[in-house]
Amino acid sequence: MNILVTGSAGFLGTNLCKRLLDDGHNVVGLDNYYTGLKDNTEFLKNYSNNFKFIEHDIINNMAELDFGKLDWIMNLACPASPPHYQKDPIYTTKVSVLGVLNCMELAQSHNASLFHTSTSEVYGDPKVHPQPESYLGNVNCTGIRACYDEGKRCAESLLFDYHRTTGLPIKVVRIFNTYGPFMDPKDGRVVSNFIIQALKGEDITIYGEGLQTRSFCYVDDLIEGFIKLMNTDKNTLGPMNIGNPDEFTMIELAEKVLALTNSSSKLVFKELPKDDPTRRKPDITKAQEIGWQPKFDLNKGLQPTIEYFRPWCEK
Ligand code: UDP
Repeated sequence: MNILVTGSAGFLGTNLCKRLLDDGHNVVGLDNYYTGLKDNTEFLKNYSNNFKFIEHDIINNMAELDFGKLDWIMNLACPASPPHYQKDPIYTTKVSVLGVLNCMELAQSHNASLFHTSTSEVYGDPKVHPQPESYLGNVNCTGIRACYDEGKRCAESLLFDYHRTTGLPIKVVRIFNTYGPFMDPKDGRVVSNFIIQALKGEDITIYGEGLQTRSFCYVDDLIEGFIKLMNTDKNTLGPMNIGNPDEFTMIELAEKVLALTNSSSKLVFKELPKDDPTRRKPDITKAQEIGWQPKFDLNKGLQPTIEYFRPWCEK
């Protein structure tokens, strides 16, 4: 198939393009390098001749771009780590909302299907635990995370309205915290921060008391979930949680990273960012029903992630 991946130079985009190329597809990657890395595009170009790249921002119309005839559009483009999406919050909302509109129009003009990546952030600071897709969420719509949370919520509503009114084939995943190779060392996320700090012997920065929880999914498991959802029948639209339900406090995560890196870095406690969700864990019943199950526990997934960051820390 001929597949467009928006956000191809990002962490998930790069991993997804690699997997689609391995599976024998032609892939067009698109990115504007707002947070994506040129090194990732170079990696993909060297990886396969079936990869083509277009530099473009999805908030701008895509009708004039030369993709060939597309079978699927997979929309991953959006700043996604809190420091990145809060840098220019108005732009983040535009990417979420205008970007998905442009993807839907493009998909319709190609008679293609649209796969959209939403987020566990639609649940906000959840009052239901673990979070099933039916939970409607608890988002502070005027807070500093709202540009991303509400942008992604609006994108979901646009997708389902567009589907209901035009019949456009859609699939929507809600991604929980994910880690692995090709993460941006500078995106400020907890896994990359802790690994880099541990490898460099710097203090490990715990925000708040470190008792907040997250459930961390290794990227290969997540991408396998995407492929499984793509291959479901046309009536399976989602939204579907994809994430690993093993839940850890940030202190537990720090201790695991310290043990696996053999580091003597010390834990230091910093101010908790505003609206930081207290806990997060996916209910994956729906994903299990399509035959998906995460295979990497945190120990198994952290090892290749640490090796990915090691040369970067020695630079
Ligand atoms: N966090 C932390 N230290 C860091 C970076 C993040 O303790 O150096 C915490 C952050 O406050 C949050 C959790 O780790 O509670 C996950 O943060 P991340 O930015 O990775 O993703 P989020 O799930 O908040 O979008």
